[in-house]
Amino acid sequence: MSATVQSITVLGASGSIGVSTLDVIARHPDRYKVFALTADRRWQVLATQCLAYRPRYAVMKDPVSASALEMELRRQGCTTEVLQGDDALAQVASDPEVDTVMAAIVAAAGLLPTRAVVRAGKKGLLANKEALVMAGGLFTRAVAESGALLLPIDSEHNAIFQCLPNHRADYLQQGLKSSGVRKILLTASGGPFRNTPLSDLPKVTPEQACAHPNWSMGQKISVDSATMLNKGLELIEACWLFNARPQQVQVVVHPQSVIHSMVEYIDGSVLAQLGNPDMRTPIAHALAWPERIESGVASLDLIATARLDFSSPDYMRFPCLRLAQQAAETAGTAPAILNAANEVAVAAFLQRRIRFDQIAVVIEQVLSRIVSVEPHDLGHVQAADAEARALAQQLIAQW
Ligand code: NAD
Ligand code: MG
Repeated sequence: MSATVQSITVLGASGSIGVSTLDVIARHPDRYKVFALTADRRWQVLATQCLAYRPRYAVMKDPVSASALEMELRRQGCTTEVLQGDDALAQVASDPEVDTVMAAIVAAAGLLPTRAVVRAGKKGLLANKEALVMAGGLFTRAVAESGALLLPIDSEHNAIFQCLPNHRADYLQQGLKSSGVRKILLTASGGPFRNTPLSDLPKVTPEQACAHPNWSMGQKISVDSATMLNKGLELIEACWLFNARPQQVQVVVHPQSVIHSMVEYIDGSVLAQLGNPDMRTPIAHALAWPERIESGVASLDLIATARLDFSSPDYMRFPCLRLAQQAAETAGTAPAILNAANEVAVAAFLQRRIRFDQIAVVIEQVLSRIVSVEPHDLGHVQAADAEARALAQQLIAQW
């Protein structure tokens, strides 16, 4: 039992990860209190959360939503102070009173707030994988400088973290081999279209793409899972988090999503982390680490699960995975370019402006036309991101 109550900021509180985080926090009022909650524009969700958790601050990215939230909270007699905009997001991510920050804003919008967490030397719970994909080298350097602790929330990376040796400093400084690790086995469910006839893929709708068989998630990551670009982002994320080379990470399709990833050691031992597919497990693990707390997740019924299947990914079906592996190997700004092209393509697919199979075409064309450079600061990353977005928009507009 920890002696003091930890003060927590949840960035992206209205989203899938944010809601699961608050569910775990509510189970442990003796350990955690909420300092700040943030959202983009869903102020009604934030109003309900503010009334339940009574944070010091609520931050809305959108000014109109901020005014609506402010009015609603005053009407309900809630004293939570409402702030608005990017500076406020960074402020509640780095406030001296905050111990831990859940970084769960989706996509590139999370880059600056997540960087604020790291720069302030906080304990950061990293769900916003896109930030690390875009600027992993800069994040790694900032962590070393500030002494921040970045713990993975992505279920696969949380599993890998649990299977790796406790002496993080060894593999972070000298590479995985020095810790006796041969490779990381990154598991993937294969998403909703694992067995769909290839000829049907151009016809799939946003609703079908967002209906993941095992996980309930936000729209963007659901589409990324359906294209398996998500697994490519996760490969890049794993390289930064665990000081691995892309060749040391093998993607294994495991449709049941019961094994959340594995680590193979040089003596032939393979360690796996298993559990029901419920994000409250990695969230509770990272919140309490190195202790363990209840998460509300049901016990895994292995008898009912009965079987665990494994296969290699089908690159014909999932060209996005290959593109992400290529970007990982190219390194430099290539992962940021990949991420930006994907964000634009996924948004266009969700708006029914392009077909599902065209997401990969947009990414491939953008990656082939923009040269990757070694980013020395965030400005380089942001410039690559902007260039890739503009080109992706232009390509989509021409179709
Ligand atoms: P979501 O769409 O459900 O929620 C996103 C959150 O970000 C919301 O609170 C939203 O208000 C906020 N947001 C969106 N745009 C914003 C902006 N421009 N400025 C400020 N805030 C903004 O997404 P999610 O599924 O909770 O995913 C969040 C992150 O966690 C993503 O990076 C995703 O890849 C990662 N992740 C999610 C899961 C999951 O199970 N949902 C699993 C692993 C990793
Ligand atoms: Mg994942």
